[in-house]
Amino acid sequence: MHEMAIAEQILRTALPLVREHGAEKILEIRISIGVLSGVVPSYLEHALTELSRGTAAQGARLVASYVPPQIRCDACGAHSEGKRGLYVCPVCGSEKIRITGGSGYKIDDLLVE
Ligand SMILES: [Zn+2]
Repeated sequence: MHEMAIAEQILRTALPLVREHGAEKILEIRISIGVLSGVVPSYLEHALTELSRGTAAQGARLVASYVPPQIRCDACGAHSEGKRGLYVCPVCGSEKIRITGGSGYKIDDLLVE
């Protein structure tokens, strides 16, 4: 399952930071999710709850924000935000575009205590 693997990676990144900062637990995990990543936040939250049991991240709140797809136009070179399922350059109307972002996820911030 996609979300399990991501939750695991989040914890692998987040848990060492807690120790590094001399904190005891994570209160909140803020992440950005690309809309093209296919990650379902409620599944991810469930996965995190399962995996964080007994760790410093137990009970942490997951705050997810969405990142729209980023596209680059090969015809005019414009960088813009794409809409899901509609990939044309909003500047020149060309369909020769490349997707340059919005398919991954990243941790933005951790609230620790
Ligand atoms: Zn263009």
